[in-house]
Amino acid sequence: MQRASKVVVVVFDGLRPDMVTPERMPILAGFAGDGLWFREARSVFPSMTRVASSSISTGAPPALHGIVGNSYYDPDLTRDFVLDTSRAEDIALAESRLGGPLITAETLGDRLAAHGKRFAVVHSGSAGSTYAINPRAAANGHWTFSVMGRDATRTPRAVDEVVERFGALPPRTLPRFEETEYATRVFTELVLGEMEPDVALIWFNEPDTSFHYKFLASEETNAIVQAVDAAFGRILTAIKARPGADDIAIIAASDHGQISTSGVADMASLLTAAGHKAARGSSRSINGADITVTGGNMGEIRVVDGDMERRDQIARWLMQRDEIGMLFTPSDDPVLGAVDGTFSTALVGLDHARQPELVYVLRSGTEADAHGLPGLGLVTGGVPVGGGMHGGLNRHELNTVLILGGAARGEQPGLSKAPSGIIDIAPTILDLLGIPAPASMRGASLIAAGTQEHPARIETFETGSSAFRQMFSLARRGHHAFPIHGGRVN
Ligand SMILES: [Zn+2]
Repeated sequence: MQRASKVVVVVFDGLRPDMVTPERMPILAGFAGDGLWFREARSVFPSMTRVASSSISTGAPPALHGIVGNSYYDPDLTRDFVLDTSRAEDIALAESRLGGPLITAETLGDRLAAHGKRFAVVHSGSAGSTYAINPRAAANGHWTFSVMGRDATRTPRAVDEVVERFGALPPRTLPRFEETEYATRVFTELVLGEMEPDVALIWFNEPDTSFHYKFLASEETNAIVQAVDAAFGRILTAIKARPGADDIAIIAASDHGQISTSGVADMASLLTAAGHKAARGSSRSINGADITVTGGNMGEIRVVDGDMERRDQIARWLMQRDEIGMLFTPSDDPVLGAVDGTFSTALVGLDHARQPELVYVLRSGTEADAHGLPGLGLVTGGVPVGGGMHGGLNRHELNTVLILGGAARGEQPGLSKAPSGIIDIAPTILDLLGIPAPASMRGASLIAAGTQEHPARIETFETGSSAFRQMFSLARRGHHAFPIHGGRVN
């Protein structure tokens, strides 16, 4: 049964649901008040943009879609450097080596195309994030515009069309007011006003970018939060102006949250000093290294020559470090990792063939930051101390915005605490349009869920070795376990 004539999706990168208040975001808060708000919605692990974007497009965790990190080392693809999924050239190289798609699950775009539906995207994130939303946009006959230009989309003609109509692409400033303004104009005037695709999606790179460099809830980021809220208001107005507006479904979402950083733990330097010559993921050169290490507030560690004794030794060494919050290793066990004291990557839905042999998460907690927001943790670098970060399993990184409105609000709008998350977005869109979801979509439509009671039964796991103790909690629904929170116990 088709429940909506069209679906409009608005993604605010990095927006925390506790920022959706009448004071900070009056329009989105009003929309949430009228709609169906999944307050306990969750991202996936790692809670990074390209991983989460792939989960939004495939309705599946990394174990199925294969994007196991924003960057990851796979010597079959890029022997001499760590693959950076933000870069168009890295994705193109990986796909040519693979002889097929980098994302290994059917996407929303593929499904829509198979049913003759049109999908238009306005994106202001990296080339890789744009790619992840509809990797086969060109083959699907879809339209993806990027404010980053022709090289950041698989349908560069969309950029030519937009530039001809709206003028030169906006300058890149921080906060990204100009990009937000330009993207909003393209989306409201061209996509919603004229193209009228079956599914229209806009991805704001804010507030994520400003949170990273200008701190959560600072004066500058409050201004960009207000700007994306106002942009959302213009989108709602444009929708209301359409004929048959009541039949249009609206989904407002974020891909992950963020927490503030309290200090630096440079894992690549620490590991090198401990006798394991480490190449940073960002260095673009392996150059004689023993291991590759990606960073942020979590990362993967891979042993270049595949010596698992070195992996085990590193894992045990990390357990003695106070900076480490959590550790994961692949294992046949659904809970416990191969190295004593670690969790299994399967527990967090990361057990894809491409999974790393060791994953670390830096220590974080739920204490308040300098602006009074809960969530504070260490980072390997890349942002100023005090700046925001995400990637790990802190509840404030995992908790996402997920609000259904318009024709998607259902019979019983209100606040739902049902286990839910970004993997439910694609199945929900398909359900709204009366299209069955493929079996690989582990998420489910949220339309029928409504506010009916789904008491989230939280399961908590704990493991550790000697002085190292870690915990992780999840809530199951259907075929998926939604990550709730994880961290160091002691
Ligand atoms: Zn993001």
